[in-house]
Amino acid sequence: MALIVHKYGGTSMGSTERIRNVAKRVAKWVRAGHQLVVVPSAMSGETNRLLGLAKELAPSTQTADYARELDMIASTGEQVSVGLLSIALMAEGMESVSYTGWQVPIRTDSSFTKARIQSIDDQRVRADLESGKVVIITGFQGVDDEGNITTLGRGGSDTSAVAVAAAMKAAECLIYTDVDGVYTTDPRIVPEARRLRTVSFEEMLEMASLGSKVLQIRSVEFAGKYRVPLRVLSSFTPWDIPLDEEAKSGTLITFEEDENMEQAIVSGIAFNRDEAKITVMGVPDKPGIAFQILGPVADANIDVDVIIQNVSHDGKTDFSFTVHRNDYPRALELLKTQVAPATGATEVLGDPKICKVSIVGIGMRSHVGIASKMFRSLSEEGINIQMITTSEIKTSVVIDEKYMELAVRALHKAFDLDQPAAAA
Ligand code: ASP
Ligand code: MG
Repeated sequence: MALIVHKYGGTSMGSTERIRNVAKRVAKWVRAGHQLVVVPSAMSGETNRLLGLAKELAPSTQTADYARELDMIASTGEQVSVGLLSIALMAEGMESVSYTGWQVPIRTDSSFTKARIQSIDDQRVRADLESGKVVIITGFQGVDDEGNITTLGRGGSDTSAVAVAAAMKAAECLIYTDVDGVYTTDPRIVPEARRLRTVSFEEMLEMASLGSKVLQIRSVEFAGKYRVPLRVLSSFTPWDIPLDEEAKSGTLITFEEDENMEQAIVSGIAFNRDEAKITVMGVPDKPGIAFQILGPVADANIDVDVIIQNVSHDGKTDFSFTVHRNDYPRALELLKTQVAPATGATEVLGDPKICKVSIVGIGMRSHVGIASKMFRSLSEEGINIQMITTSEIKTSVVIDEKYMELAVRALHKAFDLDQPAAAA
């Protein structure tokens, strides 16, 4: 008997029929003797629908002025979910109770629409569990010190679930979703992609940050910080499959590196199309130039990812970096109108049609020649590499967007990811 947190995504909660299935699955776990805290998302499409209503009244709902009200609106999706799931559980003969974030309470800072969890008071929840109830807590939302409802950013229910699991020291946090685990790459691009039975927390963090959208990245950071055992598994298996089979399904995100020892050096190929490249040409190569270029970008609150500075010729150099595509028009404008005149740059070029492809694996720490194998494989496909960046456990390249699928397929094959791992 253990304390377990289940998280169900929007698709799993998508209709009353599906909610009934969730309730049956949860009831199965409770009848096996476990204490269950369940964190569901809003019904699929509901958060978009709610935010869409707000947009009808004020088209520029992005602005900070509306953020508090947007959270007030968006949080109701999850409130409906917990109530429905609680009713479904009662109809299954379970005792259950639902809570919103502010009832628990889950305390956050006041950054509306992207709040961070600060603390969770688990007293009330524990008392309910002790009295034999299933406790259902809204994902995605919390409350700030002034009593305002906040939300954690899109996809934030993952983070709620992991935070609750961390606060309650749950034995495991199971994320039930519409995919059956974490794959070596996106199976829509590479049909041979394999599900990983385990993946290290660090690899998962890289993959999430590199665009594998299985989990909200903050939930992975949280799980790492508080060492919450996390499993991603399918919510579309029949609810009545044997519990021990279900408990071992999907992908376990582990902290034990040696469990992965027999696995491939590269665990996965991640990619993202969310960035754009900017090149500042002909700037004087002198101390402070990187700061002169990137300082104003940072001041405008624009995140920079990959950066390269070329060797100089005749005292001049070119400087390139990538930004999120949403920030691209603003960044380009800023560089053309402010940075170029201030630095004496000859030209500012922009290219939004790029993508970043990365190989990820903790085995890269202890093996040499992995990056060069990547570069060889890309060159064999005739793909030109525009930028390169590395960390201990990943190597990323920036290439032309039109070669993305080709690159992902070639790398998946080059690193034998379509072969079953030696042991897992
Ligand atoms: N309902 C929220 C969203 O759609 C949170 C979540 O589903 O994780 O972003
Ligand atoms: Mg999600």
